[in-house]
Order: sequence, then structure tokens, then C-alpha cells
Amino acid sequence: MGSTQYTSINSQYNNTILLIGLKQNSKLHELNAILQCLCHIEPIINYVKYKYDYIKEINSYMIHKKNGKSLAHALKKIIYKLWPDDDFENKKIYTKTEDSKEFLEMIYKIEPKYNAETNPLIKFLQENLHKELNKGANAIHEYCYKIDKSNKKLVLNNYAKNFVKENMSIVSDLFFGTYYRYTQFIYCKHELYDFGFYSFTIYNLFEIKKMKCNMNNLSITSPMILNIHDCLFYDQRVLYNFETCKKCCKSLQCCYKNIIFIPPKILCFTFNKSVPNNTRFLIDEYINIDAYIEVQTNSKYELIGVIYFFYPNRYIAFCKNPINKMWYSYENEKVQQANFNIFQKMFIIPYMLFYQIEE
Ligand SMILES: [Zn+2]
Repeated sequence: MGSTQYTSINSQYNNTILLIGLKQNSKLHELNAILQCLCHIEPIINYVKYKYDYIKEINSYMIHKKNGKSLAHALKKIIYKLWPDDDFENKKIYTKTEDSKEFLEMIYKIEPKYNAETNPLIKFLQENLHKELNKGANAIHEYCYKIDKSNKKLVLNNYAKNFVKENMSIVSDLFFGTYYRYTQFIYCKHELYDFGFYSFTIYNLFEIKKMKCNMNNLSITSPMILNIHDCLFYDQRVLYNFETCKKCCKSLQCCYKNIIFIPPKILCFTFNKSVPNNTRFLIDEYINIDAYIEVQTNSKYELIGVIYFFYPNRYIAFCKNPINKMWYSYENEKVQQANFNIFQKMFIIPYMLFYQIEE
């Protein structure tokens, strides 16, 4: 991604706030919720709406060997529906209902088995708009890092850094991040480094709670408050496990920790839909992930989107408006000014969280 300057939504809409709901389509209510969050990510809007050669930059070659440009066009259309060029006549608040059916149909064309339940839209866009992500990832993995043993660090060489820069496009660029896992075997003291890519981990709150309870000698049924730091790389806590030591060729007890190498610009958390009893989750509006980062860099994040799931098939997205910084809730056609705190106060555990890095 280049750093070309172009118009931004802020200069176009100024004081007009667009509240645009999405018509309820089939059973995939989740798609509308994710679309709302995705289409409230300012860099995505700015890029798709105002970058002249947006479509050109999209890979035409996709994983499914179908036309990536048609998916790119579909994304462009939905962004234009949510951020239109209409004449607002000094309206302060502009409300409308739009349809995401065309977008959904395009996804079905490419992936007939598409099911938003198990295949988050963003991952789908990443894989289909930006096959280059995988190309870049593999190149780094094989050739482009070395282990600086004295400092216990992984170092990316310039080739890898440029490769990442040149081969990223907006969706992958925003959600892309890397980390490595450092493993030390307890008895033989051998060490292992695994390079990994930040992707759409689904956090299992049962497991996280279980681990936290184990560490604090608590029963799994005890009441507990979890937060993002309990999920994010398990707070760098040492975990005990068995892995195969390649030097000793046996399964041995080890401890490991994950360290972020390149933090993603958008941090996205998805939680299992079933949640442990007696557990609350506290959402922080601002987080700092300095503690998990290898190289000192900007790592302050602001919450911009929250999705709540209600059994069996209800999704409500809360999005921070990038223009006036107010929170609005979106449930298909229904849009209103509301803050996610109304659910947090009811101890309801969120389903997805979107954080944007502060720049
Ligand atoms: Zn060993």
C-alpha cells in the first residue's frame, strides 16, 4: 500500500451523519452486522471510495480462480451504498435503508457453501481479494527472517519488509500482522521459534477461563471477569505443554509464549458463541499492546466496532461513526444512537470486537 494522499470521508461529509441500515436478507443476519463494522473502518472507506485505481490494485487472480475484480466491484458498491454521494441539502442526519443482497449473491457465486457462521467475511475477502497475502507470507516464512539468538529475536530482512509492503492491499494490509512463538523445553533447554501470521483466531473463552482458573487455583465455576488481555497472547503467561523437540526427537514438556512482531492495524477478535457460565467480559475502549510487541512501535488501539450475537440468529453491530465519533447500533434495517455499554451492563459477552490502531 502506497501512502498516496486522497480525499477522505471526513472532508466529504463534514457534519452530515449517515445512518444507513441494511435490509434483512435470508438467514444470514451476521453478514449485515459484519458489513456494517467493515464499512465503518475509515481506511477501507477512504481507499475504496477515493482511491482512483482501487479496482486495478485488486488481484484478478484468486484462490478460487474466479474473477476477483467482481468481488472487488461488489465491495465497492456496498461501500457506496453506505457512504453515498447523494445531495444532502445540509441535512444533519441522513437515514436510508439499503440492500446487501447483491453482495451476498456475489459471495455465493464464488463460494456456494458460504456460511457466515463459520467463515467470517473478512477472512473471505482476504483470501479472495488478496491472494498475494499468502504469497507474501510464504516468502517471509521461508527465506526472510533469521533468528538473532543473542537477543532471542526474529529479524525480518529488507527483502521481506519490502515484499510485505509491495504485495499488500487494503484488506490484507489492515488485518495483517505477524508474531512468533518462542518455545523452551524445560529439561533439555532446547529452544524453538515458530513464525506465525496474525489471523482470525476465534478465542475460546472456556479455555481461557480454564487456564486462568488453573493458574489461580480456582474452580471453573467461580465467577470471573475476563478482558482482551486475557485473550491476547494469553498475557504472555507461561503455558505448560508437551511438544516434540526436534533435537531430542521426543515429546517433552515445554513452555512457550507468543510475541507480536508486526502489529495489525485492525485487531479483530472473535469469540466462541457459547460462553462459560458465571463469566463476564469487560470491553476496553482503548487498549495498549506494548507488552506483547517485540519492536517498540505504535500499539495503541481504539475500539471501533462490536458485534453481539443473540441465540438463535440475532446480530447487533455497534459502530463508532468515523465522523462524529458517536456510537450507533445496527440491526439490519434498524439503526439508532446507542452504545455497546447497554449490553455490557447486562453482562452479555460480545461476539466480535474491532480495534483500530491510533496513528
Ligand atoms: Zn531437546
